[in-house]
Amino acid sequence: MSSSVPADDAIFPPMELSDEERQQLISNYESVLEKSRAIGGSTIHVLPVSKTKHPELIKSLLPTCTTFGENYVQELCDKMSWFESQSLSIKFCFIGSLQSNKINKLAKEGKHSLLRIDTVSSEKVINKLSTSLKNNEWTRNLGICLQIDTSLEDSKSGIPYTDVEQIKSLIDLISEKDNLDYKGLMTIGAPGDSTCFDRLKLIFDEVGGEVLSMGMSGDFEEAIEKGSNEVRVGSTVFGKRDYPVKTN
Ligand SMILES: *Cc1c(COP(=O)(O)O)cnc(C)c1O
Repeated sequence: MSSSVPADDAIFPPMELSDEERQQLISNYESVLEKSRAIGGSTIHVLPVSKTKHPELIKSLLPTCTTFGENYVQELCDKMSWFESQSLSIKFCFIGSLQSNKINKLAKEGKHSLLRIDTVSSEKVINKLSTSLKNNEWTRNLGICLQIDTSLEDSKSGIPYTDVEQIKSLIDLISEKDNLDYKGLMTIGAPGDSTCFDRLKLIFDEVGGEVLSMGMSGDFEEAIEKGSNEVRVGSTVFGKRDYPVKTN
């Protein structure tokens, strides 16, 4: 472990939370977990999505929950160093869109806390990630989920769900890398269109994996009914996102 550095107050100004506020966050999380498991059973995983949220809020959920989803590379790295500066153990899954020029930063700064990247959809990114982990001397494997575009709307990223051959070939490529572990599939889907979940479940049944990540605050229960085993829930746990979303 690198030696601790002081937290950067300019990035995350100190925040005081009352016991009530902390308890509220825990009960928000537990309520999502309960609802999820009532439908899908005890193996359903809830990934609280903490983008734009102050690390003190995330800290309130430790150790009840130890893994969180983040969308922006810079923000994720800032949070990883905040937790490191407090000697707190935490894990993150990266669920944002991954630009190739940010991979090296993730590989460098994610060494201790980055568990998985859920938004991989190209050969180029897989190769670059693997090389970058090697260059940064990772001593464990990084988990990878492939992001699948299940709606084929212009705005969605991921491998088109219609291209099952491409999905299989990227799974093979990941398996060839000795520092990457294929974990499963994730999709965002079109809001209100649960056939997206059906499409991904069919593919998941065909290609296999541990993680089938689909469903967010507005539709996690429906996603679980459709076979999801991991839901990514942000606003229902942490409240409405309250400062402008960064673009990095
Ligand atoms: C922000 C985000 C979420 C969480 O969204 P909520 O609607 O707040 O639950 C889930 N998945 C991805 C990929 C996200 O970017």
